[in-house]
Amino acid sequence: MIDLHTHTTASDGTWTPEQLILGAKQAGLEAIAITDHDTFAGYEEAQPVAAREGMPLICGIELSTKLQPATGAGRPKTVHLLGYFLRPPAPALFEWVKLQQQIRHERNVQLSARLAELGVPVTLEEVHQRGRSMAGRPHFASIMVEKGYVSTLQEAFDKYLDEKGAAYVDKHDPSLGEGIRQVREAGGITSLAHPIRLNRFGRDEEDLIRQMAKMGLHAIEVWHSDHTGRHREHYEVLAHRYRLAITGGSDFHGDNKPGVELGSGKGGNVAVPRNVLERLRATARG
Ligand code: AMP
Ligand code: ZN
Ligand code: FE
Ligand code: FE
Repeated sequence: MIDLHTHTTASDGTWTPEQLILGAKQAGLEAIAITDHDTFAGYEEAQPVAAREGMPLICGIELSTKLQPATGAGRPKTVHLLGYFLRPPAPALFEWVKLQQQIRHERNVQLSARLAELGVPVTLEEVHQRGRSMAGRPHFASIMVEKGYVSTLQEAFDKYLDEKGAAYVDKHDPSLGEGIRQVREAGGITSLAHPIRLNRFGRDEEDLIRQMAKMGLHAIEVWHSDHTGRHREHYEVLAHRYRLAITGGSDFHGDNKPGVELGSGKGGNVAVPRNVLERLRATARG
């Protein structure tokens, strides 16, 4: 088994890159991809550990992008895009990712100010202590729990941080098309993360997937800890229909996603066979 979707302390996971590699070994995984949000720092730190431990490690990333659905108006929606086989250095992509970190930082400054206004202050200093180069809303949420403003991470999102929350600040994410292009130009391949979330758009999911395939998307994530067996079958059918490859992973975040285990997801709902990686490599070679 393999796991192609994991986060470390370089973004919003709670395991260090080293702990993640050792954990993958302990779980008996045959390969692992680190897909931190908007940073390669976790992958870079894990690389020597993976080499020492003999754990095949794939360089990945998870990018926050926006998609304006082709049919109908309405606000653009957030789509998470996974990129694989980026084998740094790919200087242009690095620069572009740095720009995304800057955009994130600016959002965090505004979010911190907004929370202070609302009487639930979270300072940037507190956030950066946890989030390093990629501080995000999950860090804000856990600090808010710690400070007793809310009792759960979910409550922090519902009341303050989510799109409908009181402190929500829009982040100027790149378009999905641009994300796909950047990863392609760096020689990588792209996969739509947790497609189940497309349902939140209130639009036809299949239309969106067709639109993405036309934009040059390579794959969709069939196994994910938020997917049931029926979802898996459903996305496999869609992948086949639009000639997309298949990826899968737990989306492991350590304590930031309680109940999700490395490699096996929620209650064993993730089990990605090694041949998924072999087929993906074939896709990357074209
Ligand atoms: P950011 O990239 O800093 O805007 O944070 C995005 C992350 O916050 C996502 O990857 C999720 O892990 C988490 N997140 C976003 N919306 C919610 C929500 N409504 N409930 C729980 N977690 C959320
Ligand atoms: Zn995350
Ligand atoms: Fe995601
Ligand atoms: Fe993720």
